[in-house]
Amino acid sequence: MRKIKLEPDCENCAAYCCVALAFDQSNMFAYDKKAAEPCKHLTKDHACNIHEQLTDKGFAGCVRYNCFGAGQRVTNELFAGKSWRDHPNEAQKMFDAYRVMHNVHEFLAMLEAARKLKLDSVQIKQVEVFQNELSPASAWTPATLAAFQSSGVFDEIRFFFRGLSDRA
Ligand code: SF4
Repeated sequence: MRKIKLEPDCENCAAYCCVALAFDQSNMFAYDKKAAEPCKHLTKDHACNIHEQLTDKGFAGCVRYNCFGAGQRVTNELFAGKSWRDHPNEAQKMFDAYRVMHNVHEFLAMLEAARKLKLDSVQIKQVEVFQNELSPASAWTPATLAAFQSSGVFDEIRFFFRGLSDRA
C-alpha cells in the first residue's frame, strides 16, 4: 500500500477548508458561510488574516478542524498546484473532490489508529482491504473520487467501526 501523508500541509494547499465547506453561526463559527464561498478572513494568497486569534474571534471550529492531508493532496496531485481562485470554471469540481478526499483521508487515519487495537485476524484483514481500497495504485481523479463516493465503501467502513466500539 502506498504511504500517504495524513497531516495537513497548509503552506502547500489552496485553503480548501476555508472555501469548500459550509459552516453555521454557533459557538464554533462567528457567522454563517455557504459551501464554495471563501471565508471572509481568507486572504488572496490563501492565508488567514485572524490565524493567531481564531478562538478569540469566534472560530474555535477552525482550530479543531483537521483535513488529514486531503487539502494539499487535492491541490497538488489532482489539480497540479492550481487554485480555485485562478480557475473559477474548475472550482466546483475542485471543491467536490476535496470533500470526498477528506473522507478518504479521515478514514485512512482512523484505520491506521485501528491497527493499534487488539483486533482478531479477520478484522486485521478487513482493515487492510479498506486501506487498499482507499489508496488505489492508480492516482485518484475527480471522476474516480465521485464514483467511489457512491460505491458504498464509506458506509461499509462506518459499519466496521461501529463493530469495533468495544475495542477502543
Ligand atoms: S485544507 Fe487542510 S492543508 Fe489545506 S488549509 Fe485546510 S487544513 Fe490546511
